[in-house]
Amino acid sequence: MKKIIAIALAITAFISCQNQPKPATEGHVHFANKTDYICGMEVQADWTDTTTYAGKTYAFCAASCKEEFLKYPEKYLAAK
Ligand SMILES: [Zn+2]
Repeated sequence: MKKIIAIALAITAFISCQNQPKPATEGHVHFANKTDYICGMEVQADWTDTTTYAGKTYAFCAASCKEEFLKYPEKYLAAK
């Protein structure tokens, strides 16, 4: 019985985590970049224009910024 409760709690925690993204606070953003490399905006946790480069996920405010980054990813990462 205890095992079932533990599993239920784990599932509940997982679902609530998925459904309630925490507000973007410093250190809690799950992207590799803290600012949009192209326009300099602070990365928000709910941004959906993301790309994975060299095993890390980077977020951008818009598809245009993401595309610009993907043209010269090394340049933008080196500039950081
Ligand atoms: Zn941008």
